Amino acid sequence: MSKFAMANENDIINGSSTDVYFDKTEEYLKKLNVNPKVTMEVTISSSAYNYINFTGLNDVVSLLENHNINLYAIPEGTLIRPRDDNGIPVPFIRIEGNYLDFAEFETPLLGFICQASGISSYSSMIKKILNNIPFMSFGIRRMHPAISIMIDRSAYIGGASGVSGVLSAKVLGIEASGTMPHALSLILGDDEAWKIQHDNSNFRVFLIDTYMDEKFAAIKAADEFPDIDYIRLDTPSSRRGNFPNIIREIRWELGIRNHKNIKIMVSGGIKIEDLNELVNAGVEAFGIGTSIASAKPVDFAMDIVNIEDVNKTKRGKFSGIKNVLRCDKCYKVKTVLNNISEEKCDCGGTMKNIMEKYIENGKIIKNEDINIIRKRSLNEINNILNL
Ligand SMILES: [Zn+2]
Repeated sequence: MSKFAMANENDIINGSSTDVYFDKTEEYLKKLNVNPKVTMEVTISSSAYNYINFTGLNDVVSLLENHNINLYAIPEGTLIRPRDDNGIPVPFIRIEGNYLDFAEFETPLLGFICQASGISSYSSMIKKILNNIPFMSFGIRRMHPAISIMIDRSAYIGGASGVSGVLSAKVLGIEASGTMPHALSLILGDDEAWKIQHDNSNFRVFLIDTYMDEKFAAIKAADEFPDIDYIRLDTPSSRRGNFPNIIREIRWELGIRNHKNIKIMVSGGIKIEDLNELVNAGVEAFGIGTSIASAKPVDFAMDIVNIEDVNKTKRGKFSGIKNVLRCDKCYKVKTVLNNISEEKCDCGGTMKNIMEKYIENGKIIKNEDINIIRKRSLNEINNILNL
């Protein structure tokens, strides 16, 4: 057990972090010496998101490595609707094996993808709205530190330009993005805090609203340090009044003083519904924390669809082992049985199976680099995602 209120890595790997009913099921089946060959699929019945940016598979693959199963999945960073164009649920993961070899991992498996895909899907919607305007994932402080890397990784796959977490950035192979905390201005005073930030940073972002009114502080900072990149507003909610109009005012005052080069970054409680108006007001970078880190999880569920080569499933689900075809031209999606792996699309393109094999008899046979996953995701946010 961990010193903190969390399961440690071993608790997850050895199956202790499961729900008790799997332990019971395992005990009964073992007693009866029943352990059939099954295929299970992971699908979504209803979702808060029109498109899922599928994320978290990395941890699922690590979890099931060395268990005698085969695992197929849609690659991470794929943007896809929960149901195909005919309303049939899309399987995101398929696992084949003897039931007792992986039953107890259903709980942690779903936990890995539900939360990560929620964060990534939410970030993708932000990315679609902001397009080339950068946004940074600033939300790890709102969540348990044990999952900070997962939060930042998912936000980054979903299109965040950077992440504030030091550990996350290291794992992602990028430089952590940060500005300066109010604490620096409180301890040193604005003038000294700005000077040290100016002299020691390649990416010069000044936090200007620790003590002063946003407009007058912005003018002072810009006049004294005309080569800074951004001024950042983290205006407390009690002072916001009309936040977009505060930004317009600052943009205007900087503009007429020849500080058009200095951009405005905002942070503090920013949600997806705030973005359009803030962009319209002149914001050119965002730090987004809580709304990304606490994005609604995707309700993935895992069900048996075939037992000993007989198609069988529970009420409300679709039996049979399936592939997911997607058109390489119009991105139309069709769930089909797995004896079909290619079909002509009405548009003239080819519908190809996008489920790939990641684990074969417990051995990992496919491992994707974060840069490939993110590139796929950015391309699909651009071409497929429809808000
Ligand atoms: Zn097509």
